[in-house]
Amino acid sequence: MKIVAYAADAALYCVACAHDLYGVNPTDPADPEHRDREGNPVHPVFEDAHSDQPEHCNACQTLLAIGLSPEGEQYVQKLAARGPVPDAWRGEWPWLFDR
Ligand SMILES: [Zn+2]
Repeated sequence: MKIVAYAADAALYCVACAHDLYGVNPTDPADPEHRDREGNPVHPVFEDAHSDQPEHCNACQTLLAIGLSPEGEQYVQKLAARGPVPDAWRGEWPWLFDR
């Protein structure tokens, strides 16, 4: 299953930033376990993960390809009703904005 992000140091990172920061290599099946600055394992986040809000990379702020739970979709629609939201959100979940 595809890795879309990594969790480390109590934050989420895109694959490119996690590679730079922690040395992870998602294309290597034999990639050993990596540790974050607190000594905890760097966890991969897979494409079937869901979140209650849009998740962005803690380093480069790129929107991560993590799906939204029903609560997450409501959260995005609530914010969109109040004001502008990032274009990346509209690109990722266009069906939330077509009503
Ligand atoms: Zn990043």
